[in-house]
Amino acid sequence: MTENKIPDTRQAWQQELSTAITRPEELISILDLDRGLLPAARVAARRFGLLVPRGYVALMTPSDPQDPLLRQVLPLAEELRSPPGFSTDPVGERAAVCAPGLLLKYQGRALLLLTGACAIHCRYCFRRHFPYAEDSVQLDRAAGAIRRLAEDPSLHEVILSGGDPLMLDDEALATLVDKLGAIPHLRRLRLHTRLPIVLPSRVTERLCRILSASRLQPVVVVHINHARELGPAARSVLEQLRNAGVLLLNQSVLLRGVNDTAHHLAVLSEALFECAVVPYYLHLLDRVLGAAHFELDEAMAVRFLDQLRTLLPGYLVPRLVKEIAGGPYKIPIG
Ligand code: SF4
Repeated sequence: MTENKIPDTRQAWQQELSTAITRPEELISILDLDRGLLPAARVAARRFGLLVPRGYVALMTPSDPQDPLLRQVLPLAEELRSPPGFSTDPVGERAAVCAPGLLLKYQGRALLLLTGACAIHCRYCFRRHFPYAEDSVQLDRAAGAIRRLAEDPSLHEVILSGGDPLMLDDEALATLVDKLGAIPHLRRLRLHTRLPIVLPSRVTERLCRILSASRLQPVVVVHINHARELGPAARSVLEQLRNAGVLLLNQSVLLRGVNDTAHHLAVLSEALFECAVVPYYLHLLDRVLGAAHFELDEAMAVRFLDQLRTLLPGYLVPRLVKEIAGGPYKIPIG
């Protein structure tokens, strides 16, 4: 008797994501790390789960607990501290929600939170406590947010965020991009995503076609903190996006133990430029509960920026900024 197999209709990236590492013991074992890290990692992962695709783990150096890529994803005992000044909503996003999943923070731009899901859980994420179930739009209930966008002619740019907007499949994105393209006052479509870096297979040919075919000018802001995140697969899909006519920008977060020297930041900017990605923002850490151990003080950040200016041409120096809850724009520093 032949076995009736149900065909797997998921795309390659969805299959790859389904094998991502979620158990601290597996990550520690694969990388041959000290098992003494495990008890705290388990406790911290109960507050904000571990999630990391295997392709990203392959870029890490085994047996090195200080690896800058590992530090971004490994739950640590330090996350359990609650120092003063750190909160669950450090940039005041909940006050900016004007329709389910729609945030109006800055003049002329609207932020559409499409999904709470990501392909990786970055330990310093300022949205690690965001109540996505309440305030992200699943596409079937996006109508209210889209109506609100259509009613406000002062809006010229829509920013798809999350979670990660590329967690939506191509079908859903194509439908959404069509609807947004039909709103005459919108000019630009911006996506904030980490998937081209942590799960490059997500950049499908169809995705590139969806972006290049839209009336809206496409901008993709990737999130890379360290040059080693730019492996061969990520470099290749960035080239595909660029060939599709997408403007590529990068935002980084300044993170203790990850990219906290001018040298590391300079190497990152050079690597970005090789991939036609413009270094756009370098953010001070948003003071989210659980991430205090990543923080560097402002004076030190300004010193790095000064050093960076001596190492690089001006167009490769990102803008150092911090976000203040309720502020009209990100505040430039230095
Ligand atoms: S990919 Fe972005 S939204 Fe998702 S956890 Fe990392 S920083 Fe947060």
